Amino acid sequence: MGLGSFGGGVGLARYLARQGAHVTVTDLQPQERLSDSLNALASLPIRFVLGEHREQDFTDTDVVFVNPAVPLTSRYPDLARQHQVPLDSEINLFVRECCGRVIGITGSVGKSTTTSLLGSILQLHDTRTRVGGNIGGSLLPHLDEITPGTPVVLELSSFQLEQLAWQAYSPPLAMVLNLTPNHLDRHGTMDAYQRAKEGIFAYQTPADTAVLNWDDARVRQMADRTPGRQLFYSTEATFDEGVYCQDNTVIYASQGQRTVLCHATDVTLQGRHNLGNAAAAAAAATLFDVPPDTIARGLRRFHGLPHRLERVADKNGVNYYNDSKATTPASTLRALEAFEHPVILLAGGYDKGTPFDELARAACHQTKATIVYGATAPKLVQAFELASRQAFAGCAQVIQCTDLEAALAQAVALTDPGDIVLLSPACASYDQFPHYEARGDFFRTWVQNLPDSNGI
Ligand code: ADP
Repeated sequence: MGLGSFGGGVGLARYLARQGAHVTVTDLQPQERLSDSLNALASLPIRFVLGEHREQDFTDTDVVFVNPAVPLTSRYPDLARQHQVPLDSEINLFVRECCGRVIGITGSVGKSTTTSLLGSILQLHDTRTRVGGNIGGSLLPHLDEITPGTPVVLELSSFQLEQLAWQAYSPPLAMVLNLTPNHLDRHGTMDAYQRAKEGIFAYQTPADTAVLNWDDARVRQMADRTPGRQLFYSTEATFDEGVYCQDNTVIYASQGQRTVLCHATDVTLQGRHNLGNAAAAAAAATLFDVPPDTIARGLRRFHGLPHRLERVADKNGVNYYNDSKATTPASTLRALEAFEHPVILLAGGYDKGTPFDELARAACHQTKATIVYGATAPKLVQAFELASRQAFAGCAQVIQCTDLEAALAQAVALTDPGDIVLLSPACASYDQFPHYEARGDFFRTWVQNLPDSNGI
């Protein structure tokens, strides 16, 4: 149920078909919207029901595999349950079959970056290492290559964690990066969202470990509910037991000993939040007994993922950054903090139900101008009006545009040499783009096509 276009559905359908299962793939999207995924499955004996769901497919089958993106309001999973048809998922099947040593990484933001940083470190230490989950497609095709002890790094979304709770599963090593309002359109309340996230350690045993970000008050308080050992990391506090940052050095303190794991200069990514992500990855690496010089090398060779504070062009002395993956106000706040030069911010998109008040207060002071566009533009303008009433020393200009292209044209008109134009939307992309990659690609191409003599 739900093929999607991110690779998880394709990997699952292919795996099940190759195991000899009779597979029906059903998706509410019509055939033309799924062409890449359908092409990838073309040679397999799979029955497709597209553009609709049929009740009989859910009641007259052995098991229904549900895509994590299927809304909780969909009646079909319930229908299956009423007919004693069990529900399952790609990630649930993977962890049942996987004999490697799994570390799960969750949080509201920073999951993909931290998962990739840890992957970069562990692959140097153990070439068998696999990285997957909510990043990079399904790992089901790689099950055969995973042997006991193989490090397996899984990025886990709140949707996947809800599914893992069906089988009371938490990974033996679990990491929580932060918890800020996100996906409230689906979870309803912050409590429900937090409960889903806590699934990452809720079913651990005392022999397991939870790596927790001390700097996030909500995450720090989760320690009371972890069944296993806790390993804290921080960029602000210091510990007798834990991983912390002092004098631009990341240190692991344990049993009276202090070990330097790496230096801030080993982290190639911009912004203090990325030092936190690196500290998290370094802390997790200690659980796999990775020596410090390997941790430092693993961090140094990672230069960031596309669409996360990605510098895409320098035109007429103006630097353009694509941070399309910033789909929450919290990540946009971190992006603003990462720059010292005047920033023209582009924000807006699909409304996930998150409040914009804090972002508006910060952008009021930290931007030269903010250009809002898309479905959330009126809500953002409202938040800015409130912020400007509260501001003592004036507020940056806010301009409302219909779409990203209009916002870009407006931004370019406002630039002076030395400025930064930052696409960090604080919202999902679905009102105007199929996903954040398409939005970031549009931004990159548009900007790279601007006339200039010294583009990168
Ligand atoms: P996720 O996979 O959780 O969505 P990403 O690593 O893809 O996270 O980053 C998403 C956005 O959040 C990017 O804009 C990135 O710059 C920002 N970001 C990354 N790490 C953090 C963090 N620790 N705190 C706040 N924002 C972050």
